Amino acid sequence: MKRTLIADLQKSTNKEVEIKGWVNAIREHGKLIFLEVRDITGTVQTITTAKDEPNFKTAKSLTKESCIRIKGKINPRPKGTENKNSPAGNVEIKIEELEIYNKCPALPFDLENKDTSEDIRLKYRYLDLRRPEMQNNLIIRSKIIKVIRDFLNKEGFSEFETPILAKSTPEGARDYVVPSRTQPGKFFALPQSPQLFKQLLMVAGFEKYFQIAKCMRDEDLRSDRQPEFTQLDLEMSFVTQEDIIDLTERLLQKIWKETLNTHIKIPFPKLTYDESMKKYNVDRPDLRKNKNDPKEFAFCWITDFPAFDKSEEKGKLIATHHPFTHPEMQSFNKNPLTAKSIAYDIVLNGTEIGGGSIRIHEEEIQSKVFEVLGINKKEQKEKFGFLLDALKFGAPPHGGIAWGLDRLVQIILGVESIREVIAFPKNKEARDLMLNAPSPLSDKQLKDVHIKLNLPKKK
Ligand code: ASP
Repeated sequence: MKRTLIADLQKSTNKEVEIKGWVNAIREHGKLIFLEVRDITGTVQTITTAKDEPNFKTAKSLTKESCIRIKGKINPRPKGTENKNSPAGNVEIKIEELEIYNKCPALPFDLENKDTSEDIRLKYRYLDLRRPEMQNNLIIRSKIIKVIRDFLNKEGFSEFETPILAKSTPEGARDYVVPSRTQPGKFFALPQSPQLFKQLLMVAGFEKYFQIAKCMRDEDLRSDRQPEFTQLDLEMSFVTQEDIIDLTERLLQKIWKETLNTHIKIPFPKLTYDESMKKYNVDRPDLRKNKNDPKEFAFCWITDFPAFDKSEEKGKLIATHHPFTHPEMQSFNKNPLTAKSIAYDIVLNGTEIGGGSIRIHEEEIQSKVFEVLGINKKEQKEKFGFLLDALKFGAPPHGGIAWGLDRLVQIILGVESIREVIAFPKNKEARDLMLNAPSPLSDKQLKDVHIKLNLPKKK
């Protein structure tokens, strides 16, 4: 017999079916036992009575969250006892066969208790993810990604993967590094974003690229960040800032329509960086009329960022966006230090959800920008020789944007932290409590990668 999903049970009233899933709740009433069974599509009530001794006995031995199979007949539920919250709430199954696939011991936490500490939830994430809220969060996340893929495919984009074992890309954070076994003393860096790869894909002539990309940044943890996070990363050739803004707006509009059935008005308001700072004293203003309304979505663009900013290191400059951002040439030619850049951020309700820029496609300008940043010719060649070379070979004008996907999903779902929309996040101290990672390496592993530890003294 083929398994029926719980959401499809209604269609088979009065028929014999087989369902598979987990024991969501057990209610014993003397000679009656009700087992509420849950699968990914919903819950349904099943019943056995003391008259049916073998099944009654098995049901009596069951525990919550055990994994089971039930065969039986679907009957309509008596009037007034229907459960409106379930797609199978108006039917019930009279158990004829009950098989236990796997019994569940006492749970480390009550799945229905909303106050469980986050560390416990993360340690037993596979149980936490059984909760309908978490399943909903991740399924909506998957739907959003599907909307993105469908939309961008229709617009002529191709999806490419880029390496994880890579070289430092200056996105402004520390790199996570991976030691090389075969090349002693050398390290890969995990990408802080696919920035240079996507630019090289433009040099290669693909014209429209996107990726749902993992990015790794070893930052001091602020409360709601993750050391690894997901970006929607995209890049286009032969475009202006306006083209990227327009594409972003249409895609956001589509996502809001498909997931929240909400129409958002485009184009979004635009403010220059100077205007925003003057008027709101921040570069990511919250333009909601009523800041307590969870259904209000106020998008805006911030443009014309200063190209460079003072670094913590005295006398040094850093790129406000990143060093591959095209400066606005009139201001750059006048005085690089006060130049503007062709960079833009998309802001939603006071949160920066994405940022991008038109890139430098001319080798001389890229080299000049590196110089302004205090990177001399020798260092340029060592670190970015491949890019400077590539730009010489007929590189097209290009630009793009990246969105923080976790944050976007969080805002759409209106949940408290990005950890609620990531299947296996790290905790606030950047630890994976389920895997217990990071963890020490064996002496053999350390030796293999030519590493001797020099640990800080224990206090
Ligand atoms: N790579 C940039 C970032 O991660 C985004 C972009 O310029 O496309 O911030």
